[in-house]
Amino acid sequence: MGGDFEVIKKDVMGRIGILRTKSGKIETPTILPVINPKNIVVSPRKMKRIGADAVITNSYIIYSSPKLKERARKEGLHKMLQFDGPIMTDSGSFQLSVYGDIDIESKEILRFQREIGSDICVPIDIPTKPDEKWDKAKKDVEITLERLREMKEIKREFEDLSLVAPIQGSTHKDLREMSAREAGKLDFDIYAIGAVVPLLEEYRYRDLVDVVLHSKFNLPLNRPVHLFGAGHPMTFSLAVLMGCDLFDSAAYVLYAMDKRYLTVNGTHKLSELRYFPCNCPVCSEYSPREVMESGEDERTRLLALHNLYESFSEIKRIKQAIVDGRLWELVQIRCRSHPRLLDALRNLIRYSGEMERFDPSTKSAFFYGGIESNERTEVLRYRRKLEAMEIKKTPALITTLNRELEDFEEVYYLKPPFGPFPKELEETYPFNCETPDIFDEEMVKTALGNVIILIENEKNRGKEILFEYDERYNHPLIEEVKRYTEVKKGRCDLKC
Ligand SMILES: [Zn+2]
Repeated sequence: MGGDFEVIKKDVMGRIGILRTKSGKIETPTILPVINPKNIVVSPRKMKRIGADAVITNSYIIYSSPKLKERARKEGLHKMLQFDGPIMTDSGSFQLSVYGDIDIESKEILRFQREIGSDICVPIDIPTKPDEKWDKAKKDVEITLERLREMKEIKREFEDLSLVAPIQGSTHKDLREMSAREAGKLDFDIYAIGAVVPLLEEYRYRDLVDVVLHSKFNLPLNRPVHLFGAGHPMTFSLAVLMGCDLFDSAAYVLYAMDKRYLTVNGTHKLSELRYFPCNCPVCSEYSPREVMESGEDERTRLLALHNLYESFSEIKRIKQAIVDGRLWELVQIRCRSHPRLLDALRNLIRYSGEMERFDPSTKSAFFYGGIESNERTEVLRYRRKLEAMEIKKTPALITTLNRELEDFEEVYYLKPPFGPFPKELEETYPFNCETPDIFDEEMVKTALGNVIILIENEKNRGKEILFEYDERYNHPLIEEVKRYTEVKKGRCDLKC
């Protein structure tokens, strides 16, 4: 099979990668704008200029229209859509989920996709809606897996193409895991997490986190992951942090038809906008009223263009955040734009322990961005390290004084949310973190937890930790440490 994927930069579980297809490279993470071959609102050529390396269209729509079918067979997809980059073709699974039945078999539609020159082919899977009964959802997963095994048998026919394996399982975590694990064994080029659109439509981002992570943790790391139908820019950074590399967007045009304007913070009704909060070519040339009054087709085209500009700027911001090691910060900002996204973030940090092994251990900065920062992968990693750590030299000292203390060979500075850390590491990541001077309770609690781990560990080894602080400086962490520990002549012992 074709489809070589190379990861060039990582942050948390997000990554920048290069996917090679027979019609060229796709730099991930990225969105593939959906092209409806029956109604092209923005030309694929224009999409390329806005930032689309690749596009996606529906082979089932082409197949079921005699006119389009003949044209696609004669000209090939690339000429028909006037796009010379990679083209992914969906199979009709979405139609299956909406209409309940389609009149074609998976092998047949795959061969049609190849015939018309698709670069990335998707079989027909069984999309299972959220909250489906476990037995039914399991059966659907088994049928999808059976089709994937069939595809393996005919894979020689598809040697230069990239084949996609859809992952299903409804909202059942164990079924998503099974679907991902079993499909993962079959060595497909791309894995696609399916049937999340109903979750997105109902703002069930917290469930989206469960579905994506239980799939992702069980998929091969050297393959790109596509999140089917996640086309709103407000969720891109969250999905990228969880390890999704590809998105398809019909949202840009569907929202435009509905007179809605996409931003990274949510959706606006055009009729309610007096100002455009954007400076893309559309928003700098027109006012909301001018767009509103420009006639239905032109209005849809202008809104669709803005929606695409907004989507691709967000993709660029995400990539730069990965380069800077600041993806956590970006996701924390984005997830504050809607309480349901904040739920997603709070659910996400429950998985920090598992995500930690993916997160690079060196970055340049850690910016404290609210209470969720206390559960970031870096904080969890340090807690684990501290639990296993043994202090070599005694006496050791924890202090908030930033001066050399010659009597002590081992000095720990105290800083939330990490708590005590060796003073030599003060300038290094993540202890060089930027934190607010006005501490919140959570960061004090997290740091105090680590102080207690250190003191307890050493006490169990028969060693003691000394403690020094400046009385004149009202350090809330010191107040907390004093509340929980006995501080006598610099000696620090736990009260309980
Ligand atoms: Zn704009």
